[in-house]
Amino acid sequence: MLQISRRAAQIAPSATLAIDARAKALKAEGKDVIGFGVGEPDFDTPAYVRDAAHQAIEAGKTRYTPVAGTLSLRKKIAEKFLRDNGLVYEPSEIIVSSGAKQSIYTALCALVDEGDEVLIPSPYWVSYPEMVKMAGGVPVFVPCRHEDGFRVRPEEIARRVTGRTKALLLNSPSNPNGCVLPRKTLEEIAAIAVEKGFYVISDEIYEKLVYDGCEHVSIASLGEKIKAQTVVVNGASKAYAMTGWRIGYAGGPAQIVKAMTAFQSHSSSNACSVSQYAVEAALSGGEEELADMVRAFDARRRLICRLIDETPGLAADLPEGAFYVMMDVRAALGKRCEGVTIESSHDFASLLLEKKCVAVVPGEAFGEAGFVRLSYAVGEDKIREGVRRMAEFMASLT
Ligand code: PMP
Ligand code: GLU
Repeated sequence: MLQISRRAAQIAPSATLAIDARAKALKAEGKDVIGFGVGEPDFDTPAYVRDAAHQAIEAGKTRYTPVAGTLSLRKKIAEKFLRDNGLVYEPSEIIVSSGAKQSIYTALCALVDEGDEVLIPSPYWVSYPEMVKMAGGVPVFVPCRHEDGFRVRPEEIARRVTGRTKALLLNSPSNPNGCVLPRKTLEEIAAIAVEKGFYVISDEIYEKLVYDGCEHVSIASLGEKIKAQTVVVNGASKAYAMTGWRIGYAGGPAQIVKAMTAFQSHSSSNACSVSQYAVEAALSGGEEELADMVRAFDARRRLICRLIDETPGLAADLPEGAFYVMMDVRAALGKRCEGVTIESSHDFASLLLEKKCVAVVPGEAFGEAGFVRLSYAVGEDKIREGVRRMAEFMASLT
């Protein structure tokens, strides 16, 4: 019988997007769903960005652009890298993609040979292992400990390096746990990467969302050697509330960016032209909108963690960045909900959605059983109501 490829057969669909689809379907049926599932800002794209998009349409900027993105956008991105990260990139060292997701995948395609190993600190963002497999590589997980706030230990990375290690996927601030890696840890990781000789793909999409005076450091800024083996990925989805516009970008050595551009030229061509002009405007302003958004996320972060901690059987540590919190649900495991035993955080999430219309993502999607991930990119009223329902759910367990 004819079969799909072995490579395709081992790829699981995105659990975050699946939960979002399920929650939206329930909403469409008229159910009052509280969505802590998918991670996307609930704010509108700022008005000055929407205006720039209208102008681009009216000016007829609706045709193919260079595959790697318009020169004017790449220049803006170069300015951003210099301003925010102290990184010097030429436009030829920058590629614009349809979302940071595509930048990461294309970077993996450009760097990974069949059977190469890619190190992934765990818990990890749901798409990393699947993307590595899609590129023909082998994900190798580096377990992070709850008591370390899920920050990866450099020595745990070093221990897993083999002759096949090609790259490390770093994500700080992190999805799903919100931890931010301090400069010292990044210096130690950079030293290991330089000494052992592997690339780093540094996903910095949440760089603007840090709290309590926490500092975001790009690993590529720690020296010329580490910069020469790092691809820095960022994008507009989170910092400018532009998830649907699909613009991400990467900076890296010209040879890698050239290879990524070749891949992109045959798979999707340029990212949406109108979105590129909108992001050019976004990168030229928006500090006020961003500051408002960060203030709102900060307040929600404190609120949700406090309410969770007040709920018997649930616990959550205060995250330092992004807009996610890992909620410890181990106290619910083994208990029964209307006769059904909760055996995993997957069961917990399914029953919570079914019984209380609250959407969360099971920790298994991120390699961390016993936890569920909540996105607090929702209003404070929804946070209060969602945690109230979770408390009711917990109280109903026998
Ligand atoms: N990296 C991480 C860690 C994310 O959470 C996301 C959001 N889904 C992305 C990359 C991709 O973002 P986008 O493709 O919307 O730019
Ligand atoms: N970053 C979001 C999340 O993790 C978006 C969903 C996705 O792209 O998978 O929920």
